[in-house]
Amino acid sequence: MRKPIIAGNWKLNKTPHEAILLTDELKRELVDVEGVDIVLCPPFIDLADVKEALIDHNIALGAQNLFWEDAGAFTGEISAPMLKDLGVAYVIIGHSERRQYFHETNETVSKRLRAALKHGLNPIVCVGENLAQREANQTFDIIKDHCEGSLKGLSAEEMKKVVLAYEPVWAIGTGKTATPAQAQEVHAFIRQWLARTFDEGTAGHVRIQYGGSVTPDNIAALMAQPDIDGALVGGASLKAPSFAAIVKGAQK
Ligand code: PEP
Repeated sequence: MRKPIIAGNWKLNKTPHEAILLTDELKRELVDVEGVDIVLCPPFIDLADVKEALIDHNIALGAQNLFWEDAGAFTGEISAPMLKDLGVAYVIIGHSERRQYFHETNETVSKRLRAALKHGLNPIVCVGENLAQREANQTFDIIKDHCEGSLKGLSAEEMKKVVLAYEPVWAIGTGKTATPAQAQEVHAFIRQWLARTFDEGTAGHVRIQYGGSVTPDNIAALMAQPDIDGALVGGASLKAPSFAAIVKGAQK
């Protein structure tokens, strides 16, 4: 039985002051929740303050990206050992906005993933097709390409430490959610790919989140699908009531 995992991706939102306010509100709303892994992924600059606000709470901290080198002359970058030292547990890798605006490729996703695993961070690796690719019936080809390219060379034991997020680009921040059946179809495809590439045990173990305009109104129907194990939430994670309602809706 896979434990549901709900992660809030705050993207480029919330100053440190606003981040503390949101975290305090979330702590109050989520204090009694059990059976769901909850992760907050604020901007880098907020991580230390959010970490302090989360002391003695069951909510985990995540980053939105990391660089693959540990240290050196890489101005503006943040490394896995830095995140680990701060108490960060998860890191989002290969989000479509990074692929689209910051030229991330499967190769750089793979390098970041290796750095995260080397330093004991739990990676959340994003895959997903854009609208033109879906309309051209290329969805499964793109998903296979993202999985093969981003996850190449992992052992089954390493793969088990990865959370995957299926995020159709056309559903991110657009209000257009994939229907539960559309999402399930791709999640099942990813699980079959995991079984073929690794083994059945690994495929059954890996959690696959859905991401793309998840709200309190659609979370239950998504979570009712057999291969959907949680959600990566953007817009609706910026307000405590909506994020808390999504977390509670994910309790299976
Ligand atoms: C995301 O940023 O990963 C995301 C799914 O955003 P939204 O929920 O706003 O569509």
